[in-house]
Amino acid sequence: MPHLLFDRIDEPGLNTIPVYERRGGYSALRSALAMPPEAIIEEIKQSAIRGRGGAGFQMGQKASFLPKGEMAKYLVCNADESEPGTFKDRELMQKCPHALIEGIIITTYATGIHRAFIYIRGEYQLQADILDQAVAEARAAGLLGENILGSGHSLELVVHRGAGAYICGEETGLLDSLEGKRGNPRLKPPFPAIEGLYAGPTLVNNVETLSTVPTIINMGGAEYAKIGTQGSTGTKLISVSGDVQRPGNYEIELGTPSREIIYGLCGGPRDGRSVKMWFPGGSSSPVLLESDLDLAYDFDTLAKAGSMLGSGAIIVVDDSHSALEVMQKVVKFYAHESCGKCVPCREGTNWTLKMIERIEAGEATPMDLDILASAQSQIIGHCLCVLGDAMAMPVGSIVEKFRDELAEEIEAARERANSLTYATA
Ligand code: SF4
Repeated sequence: MPHLLFDRIDEPGLNTIPVYERRGGYSALRSALAMPPEAIIEEIKQSAIRGRGGAGFQMGQKASFLPKGEMAKYLVCNADESEPGTFKDRELMQKCPHALIEGIIITTYATGIHRAFIYIRGEYQLQADILDQAVAEARAAGLLGENILGSGHSLELVVHRGAGAYICGEETGLLDSLEGKRGNPRLKPPFPAIEGLYAGPTLVNNVETLSTVPTIINMGGAEYAKIGTQGSTGTKLISVSGDVQRPGNYEIELGTPSREIIYGLCGGPRDGRSVKMWFPGGSSSPVLLESDLDLAYDFDTLAKAGSMLGSGAIIVVDDSHSALEVMQKVVKFYAHESCGKCVPCREGTNWTLKMIERIEAGEATPMDLDILASAQSQIIGHCLCVLGDAMAMPVGSIVEKFRDELAEEIEAARERANSLTYATA
């Protein structure tokens, strides 16, 4: 499998400019600064790279939505990485921060932006310190600040730490937080490309997406597009966790069979256990089953199968866990992280949690599964941001795919509760 971002990622000192440059780092920036800005956007468009943060929107298209000309425009790198199961950006920032900085400089040059921010989640203190050092090193080397490498392009780059709220990974919640407000999602439209940070046009991109830009410039967009599949070009960093023998971050070519990832790279569940379900794109993705393991791991195939690639976080659940237990973990997280701004999410997440607690307490009937499923369908598509859907989609899929098991759990819990009542009577 080709390694573009994780190629010798563990090389000591790769977080410093001398080692990064010895490996060819900042050569893409030098080439890019000699190109007209539009030609860079064209290369990115030709690469057809889709955003690596979750939404999967084409980066070149997104960048071309920004208004042209001189005005206060911003680039914000979303380094919040708060989706449960996702930890690949953390490794990238920690071990190769200059790939991200180089990608940011190239992208700002291409879009006429002079102010950029890396919004990093509060828990990533080590990575924020490494980024701070790398930014200072780049500034001292003339790669940031005024007139970068004599090109006339100037850029100020600030590393900003969040405070650990999941919702600040949502791009507009992130912008509010960056402005010093409570991180609440905004109504869209207007989209950030038109009215984002400080009401100026803003390009928001994920760490992995921006870190790939130097590779695209070095290879050429058309060459990059030959890797992967037609609708999902390139390689993808994936974080694999849960019941596998070798969890961790891996770089795969998009389109690789999921079985090759879960069993081949990660060793599958421990001996005697089998895959009961797996989340292909973080805890917010609808679950898939053992029988789906031969699906190609790419944006379109997973979408056709009723799930999504999301941030590339595969969470494997083996048959030692109950479907109810998995569902409860997911719901608790989203109920806790809901910002409370809109009713379907604020009430729906807490109400779903109460229904699960009713099942556990032996107070539910099998009919409650219909109510649970119907509640999820009323949340999906009716919230201000994606958090409500992020809970309702996996819950809806678990109720649908494990209905018999959940009905048995309901009966078993009722029997337990009844026997307790008789015993204490
Ligand atoms: Fe807040 Fe949830 Fe509504 Fe998003 S969906 S705005 S997190 S209440």
